[in-house]
Amino acid sequence: MNEHYDVLVVGGGLVGAALALALDKQGRRVALLEGLGEPLDGLEQGWDARVYAVSPANRAWLAGLGAWPDMARIGTIAAMDVCGDQGGRIAFSAEDAGAEALAWIVENRWLLAALWQQLQQASGVTILRGQRPQALWHGPREAGVVLADGSKLAAALVVGADGANSWVRQQSGIAANVKPYGHSGVVANFACERPHGDIARQWFLGDGILAWLPLPGNRISMVWSTSQPQPLLALDDARLAAVVADAGGHALGRLDVLTSAAAFPLRLITPEQVIAERVALVGDAAHTVHPLAGQGVNLGFQDAARLAAALHGRDDCGQWLALRAYERSRKEAVRTMQITCDTLFGLFHDKGTPGLAWLRNTGLNLTNRLPLIKRQLARHAVGF
Ligand SMILES: Cc1cc2nc3c(=O)[nH]c(=O)nc-3n(C[C@H](O)[C@H](O)[C@H](O)COP(=O)(O)OP(=O)(O)OC[C@H]3O[C@@H](n4cnc5c(N)ncnc54)[C@H](O)[C@@H]3O)c2cc1C
Repeated sequence: MNEHYDVLVVGGGLVGAALALALDKQGRRVALLEGLGEPLDGLEQGWDARVYAVSPANRAWLAGLGAWPDMARIGTIAAMDVCGDQGGRIAFSAEDAGAEALAWIVENRWLLAALWQQLQQASGVTILRGQRPQALWHGPREAGVVLADGSKLAAALVVGADGANSWVRQQSGIAANVKPYGHSGVVANFACERPHGDIARQWFLGDGILAWLPLPGNRISMVWSTSQPQPLLALDDARLAAVVADAGGHALGRLDVLTSAAAFPLRLITPEQVIAERVALVGDAAHTVHPLAGQGVNLGFQDAARLAAALHGRDDCGQWLALRAYERSRKEAVRTMQITCDTLFGLFHDKGTPGLAWLRNTGLNLTNRLPLIKRQLARHAVGF
């Protein structure tokens, strides 16, 4: 098999799958190469511990692709309540932004399934699952990959949507700065005794950042950024629920584990470029951010939307001008989010600088009293 496509997308996670779908809507010939097997398995299993707070702007984009999950298990973040480590506090709501919600909480498995269900009906997308490319070439006329059986897939553009350890990024010679946070994100879901009121709660604990995201009904999803994931992972369900309830000041009463804990190492990855000759990177291949603002996949969806827009109407999808336009359109938003999350992380983990604890908590309290800035924060969260 030696085929030629407009775009070859390597990696069929949320971002690669969404991009393939968006390009199909433009009438492109797309190949989507995903290393793992069947994505629709396991939908009937319990709650997925991996959930995303998807911004209204991205929800609208996904709905436009027909890929917003048609199901009742979607949570709403109507408001945020953020507590510092020494009495600081800021709260803002969707109302501040004049929006219906700040974000929608959706399980990873269901969102991926919604995307892949659409992809299976997309006439312009050739899906190759369970295959990893062995070599990549890219030159002035075309780019492509060689598969394990020696066959070649060529395209005007190869897109790396293959996650934080991107093979495409490495093969195309794009260097990346990688800064480990020394923290892992521990995720788990809980049933809670008291209603959460559609409020996302976050605590900067001094030695970690704990977030409780509202799931439908009396349920929450936790992301706990901590330098000590192992002790949490080693706890039995009852003890884990008690420790997490305690860390959140019993804000929702008693907790019971719905989905056991899992941990993901957290790193800041900043590639030097997100394009090379006939190559573009999207999603975690192009950047990672600390999950304290829940913006990783949101940035990735925006990459996919902007890349598709930059290619729209072009005869040659690998045209350098189009790739430059894509890179420029993403630079500021990505850098701003990376710097914001990185600075907040640093600010709340610096124990050595005198007065900093006072400053960061006073900062939260002051911001809480400034309606205009709060409105900006809320508008930023919804993706305006
Ligand atoms: C603890 C934690 C909590 C988070 N919470 C949020 C949140 O609330 N909101 C949010 O927006 N983001 C959140 N994120 C970030 C989010 O998970 C990522 O930004 C998102 O999953 C990136 O999607 P992606 O499609 O770019 O990459 P991935 O999800 O990593 O997908 C990459 C795909 O490429 C495939 N692949 C890899 N290599 C190859 C290869 N060589 N050949 C073929 N296929 C390959 C993989 O199998 C995979 O399917 C969180 C992250 C963490 C760690």
